Amino acid sequence: MSMEDYDFLFKIVLIGNAGVGKTCLVRRFTQGLFPPGQGATIGVDFMIKTVEINGEKVKLQIWDTAGQERFRSITQSYYRSANALILTYDITCEESFRCLPEWLREIEQYASNKVITVLVDMELNFDISELAKQSNDDSLFDFTTILGNKIDLAERREVSQQRAEEFSEAQDMYYLETSAKESDNVEKLFLDLACRLISEA
Ligand code: GDP
Ligand code: MG
Repeated sequence: MSMEDYDFLFKIVLIGNAGVGKTCLVRRFTQGLFPPGQGATIGVDFMIKTVEINGEKVKLQIWDTAGQERFRSITQSYYRSANALILTYDITCEESFRCLPEWLREIEQYASNKVITVLVDMELNFDISELAKQSNDDSLFDFTTILGNKIDLAERREVSQQRAEEFSEAQDMYYLETSAKESDNVEKLFLDLACRLISEA
């Protein structure tokens, strides 16, 4: 078995307010469990799961923020080389939904920083219009999924599915709802994303 026993490797980054269930989603998908109690924070940057899609081995490196979910406190290195983002809110917490535009602005800012980073790295040796085009072509926005979590708590829902769908549609982004607790749609979330990434790779 070679060191690189996979056909594709993708980095997927989860962002969103603290408490929306990011860590539980990652643990549900990678370990098949729902952590008991409040202490879901894990002290690692990412977890790995390899899945098979149409005979191709797809290694997913899933990054979770451990308690730094404040705007602009997440460093650019966290987004670096990300292939896809999952922007998560909690359907029982309207505040977490209202913060989505702020998260989108943060991603946008990252995208513009990336152009500058490339410029510095490449010692200004090529046409800036080419760079701008490149940075648009692999925009993270194309692979951002907006995610409403905790649908097992339907009786406490504060954000309707329709409202969230309209918002996501306006951003031209996919929308999905999950329950990390009941394992509802969690596989679908990551596998759909992996399929989309493969088809554009
Ligand atoms: P994070 O801060 O975004 O990483 O959120 P956590 O994964 O730590 O979850 C925050 C709290 O929400 C914890 O008490 C979890 O048990 C709870 N939680 C996470 N996902 C779900 C879910 O799908 N359903 C329910 N009922 N609770 C959840
Ligand atoms: Mg967490």
